[in-house]
Amino acid sequence: MEGVTTIDIKNPYDGSLVGRVPRADIADCLAAVDRADTTFASWRATAPRVRAEVLRKAWELMMADHESLARTIVQENGKVLADAKAEVTYAAEFFRWFSEEAVRIDGDYRRAPSGANWLLVSRQPVGVSLLATPWNFPAAMATRKIGPALAAGCTVVLKPASNTPLTAIAICEILRRAGVPDGVVNVVVPEPAGPAVSAMLSSGKVRKLSFTGSTAVGSLLLAQAAERIINCSMELGGNAPLVIFDDADLDVAVEGSLLAKMRNGGAACTAANRFFVHEKIHDRFVDAFTKRMSSLVLGDGLDPKTHVGALVSRKEQDHVAALVDGAVAEGATVACGGKRASDKSFGYHPTVLTDVKFGASILQEEIFGPVAPIVRFTDADDILAHCNAVDHGLVSYVFTRDVGRGLKFAEALETGMIGLNRGLVSDPAAPFGGVKASGLGREGGHDGLLAFLETKYVAGNW
Ligand code: NAD
Repeated sequence: MEGVTTIDIKNPYDGSLVGRVPRADIADCLAAVDRADTTFASWRATAPRVRAEVLRKAWELMMADHESLARTIVQENGKVLADAKAEVTYAAEFFRWFSEEAVRIDGDYRRAPSGANWLLVSRQPVGVSLLATPWNFPAAMATRKIGPALAAGCTVVLKPASNTPLTAIAICEILRRAGVPDGVVNVVVPEPAGPAVSAMLSSGKVRKLSFTGSTAVGSLLLAQAAERIINCSMELGGNAPLVIFDDADLDVAVEGSLLAKMRNGGAACTAANRFFVHEKIHDRFVDAFTKRMSSLVLGDGLDPKTHVGALVSRKEQDHVAALVDGAVAEGATVACGGKRASDKSFGYHPTVLTDVKFGASILQEEIFGPVAPIVRFTDADDILAHCNAVDHGLVSYVFTRDVGRGLKFAEALETGMIGLNRGLVSDPAAPFGGVKASGLGREGGHDGLLAFLETKYVAGNW
């Protein structure tokens, strides 16, 4: 089309061209907001049962397109096919879960305690919602927002990350086939993102911003949303501690650690970032965990022999390499890995670092790659303070055979989620989210629906 510029989407494994998408300019983005605004009145008036059935159909269609969606994710993101398939199932499940929630929007009807009048409480969709998502889960981060927004009766503009928009565009097409009317779900891919997102937030029509991405960008957008008091949900970065107490089951701890660290090749906000291992179990854990990590094959995500795919860009690879080099300079030992892929991909070998000291630089920030820094600890009473001594608070992992001890520890951890003897917490039926610099609000579960609803209260006599 004349005058339309495009964005090239490249495979992070080999640099090949995977697709091209139109680059949205500010006018295109504002037109998408207008469409969402125009269709809001009719979509909110659609019966909850109808909205539920559309979402249920979208789940079915997504599961029918499972293989091709997973391959699209691998090609634009670099993760391995097994991770991509798991993501599609997880992502589709948000449509099924929220199809079930669409018909469970509750209210309340009570007599006032004084007896003088009645209190009537209902819930209404918050309005046009701007949804911005990151590159690391191109399907799930989109459906985790679109599902509850549509269930609640909101219309949306989705802005996926510009290096992984193909999956998001395919999901919007699935929603159209499932019966979502034109203009209810809109997708735009502006590059750069900043000016376009600002323009949409200032349009006066956006009532909700649901953002998943880095804490730095989230904080910037919160400030912009403040100008118009836009309702915000923020799913931001993490820096998860993983604690293995002396009484942990070694096999459970090793398998749980592998999952907590290596899901999505380590490029997950939930990825275990700081391993604290009690000295009594430390050496046995390091031996077993290093064996498992060094057996993982790095390579092309589409090759079934591959366990770990490429990182999404050179920038991400450089970031991981710099953190490992810095840790080694501060005294860490490389038990395995510690190097970039030998081919031209943006891969990094699964890496275990031992002899990492409390306070080491690598423990202060999100690694977002396949690197496990391990700190040996002796004082169990002390470890809680180390877990909580960071700005982030998304998730923690705790391994102990003593469930009472684990739950007591979980109570005191400053994170929104805890994996107890388990390396995976994500579940569409559960409230996902963090505290402190990891965000505001929850996605998934019933809370995910409430994020797209306003409460209205009528005091009356009748
Ligand atoms: P990012 O913050 O760079 O980008 C996220 C989104 O914001 C993208 O759509 C991007 O285009 C857009 N964006 C970037 N700069 C912007 C600006 N100035 N104004 C408006 N929009 C802008 O994050 P990323 O690198 O894509 O993703 C990685 C981060 O996301 C990590 O920190 C990770 O922890 C976090 N994350 C959090 C969760 C969670 O649920 N808490 C889930 C996945 C990823």
